[in-house]
Amino acid sequence: MTGRKRDDVVIVGAGVTGMSIAWHLARLGIHCTVVERTGVGAGMTSVQAGGVRTQWSSRLTCRLALESRAFYENVEKHLAPSVPPAFRAAGCAFVARTEETLEVIAKRVVLQREEGVTSRTASPAELAGLLPGVRTDRVLGGAFNPVDGYFDRPASVVEAFAEAALREGQTLVHAEVDRLEGDGDRWTVRLGDGSALTAGDVIAAVGCGTPDLLAATGVEVPIRRLPRFLFYSPPVAETCVPALIVFEDDALLVKQLADGRLLAADLRYGLGGRRPSGDSCARIEADLRDLVALPSGARFTSIVEGEYDTTPDQQFLVGQVPERPGLWMAAGLQGRGMMLAPVVGRMVAEALEAGWSSTGAVPEELLPERFSGAGTGESETQVI
Ligand SMILES: Cc1cc2nc3c(=O)[nH]c(=O)nc-3n(C[C@H](O)[C@H](O)[C@H](O)COP(=O)(O)OP(=O)(O)OC[C@H]3O[C@@H](n4cnc5c(N)ncnc54)[C@H](O)[C@@H]3O)c2cc1C
Repeated sequence: MTGRKRDDVVIVGAGVTGMSIAWHLARLGIHCTVVERTGVGAGMTSVQAGGVRTQWSSRLTCRLALESRAFYENVEKHLAPSVPPAFRAAGCAFVARTEETLEVIAKRVVLQREEGVTSRTASPAELAGLLPGVRTDRVLGGAFNPVDGYFDRPASVVEAFAEAALREGQTLVHAEVDRLEGDGDRWTVRLGDGSALTAGDVIAAVGCGTPDLLAATGVEVPIRRLPRFLFYSPPVAETCVPALIVFEDDALLVKQLADGRLLAADLRYGLGGRRPSGDSCARIEADLRDLVALPSGARFTSIVEGEYDTTPDQQFLVGQVPERPGLWMAAGLQGRGMMLAPVVGRMVAEALEAGWSSTGAVPEELLPERFSGAGTGESETQVI
């Protein structure tokens, strides 16, 4: 590669992934241009619910989540945002209603604790103290981590990364990228208005759009779209479910947000083409009332649809695209792109800086080439 130099990077996509990479590149003194077709954080970053947790099934995700959690603890120091994101360590619980699930949860806690995660198992009696309102006669136990939580305004995180990246001199261009063309040495980024940018390195940070964007380069990306649905209530005056509670056997989750609204999901929607219908709000309310004491007036009245960029092993894809020097991707984050944005941004920026090689900065389990061989590493089964 003769045509590449440090300040010669284009990032496609100004979601939380793209803006974190842009900020991390700025910290390393590498200028980039971010090209975004809609607006900063306008993709799945605007749908996500602000959740940050460190309880995962694989060692790798636990480690990455701990690094990101530590970054967010000092987010004001790192990003100096004009409106600081407020993180609430309200806790997160995974609850079992069958012996089989209880055993899986207990095994995960052992692994998590070995990695330094502060989760612990809890009996129904302990859960009663940790999760007021849960009908503990219906559960067998679970796991709880008090330091997991959520941002009060989910959009505040991408805004903070964007503000810091632009302050440090990165460039944001509003345009649709139609096509990426490589000549083996440099990349041409063709824009919707007929103009073009050229770059030594192009990073696709477009989530579910990655297979379409890379198709023209002859690359098949193993990401597929999975519809996901969040149910919201209007604000409820009483404090009822401060921690996120995941009822694993029922595929249900619920928590109360900083503004009093209840947020819930039935994780079966989206699977096998199943979508919410007219009575879904009433149904999820009834299912949850069976498990948690919700205030009598609480009603779910709106449903927000988004999609996960899923991969075959539920781990994400970060690194250079095999046999396409200078073409990078950071996608497949599914339900954790906001919470892992600090570590994804760091890995991509460091890999670029280290002589444009993915090796070293990015764990092997995340490299795109894993799907062309036998595959490496543990899959992640605790995506919700
Ligand atoms: C229902 C739901 C709940 C979630 N909850 C959480 C949560 O609690 N915590 C958490 O961490 N994560 C959560 N997530 C996951 C999180 O939303 C994503 O992982 C994250 O937002 C991905 O960010 P991204 O920047 O990779 O992609 P996106 O936010 O989708 O950004 C991609 C950007 O690329 C732009 N783009 C695409 N194609 C082009 C093109 N051709 N030219 C120019 N621009 C282009 C888009 O406009 C978009 O702005 C949730 C997701 C869903 C769907």
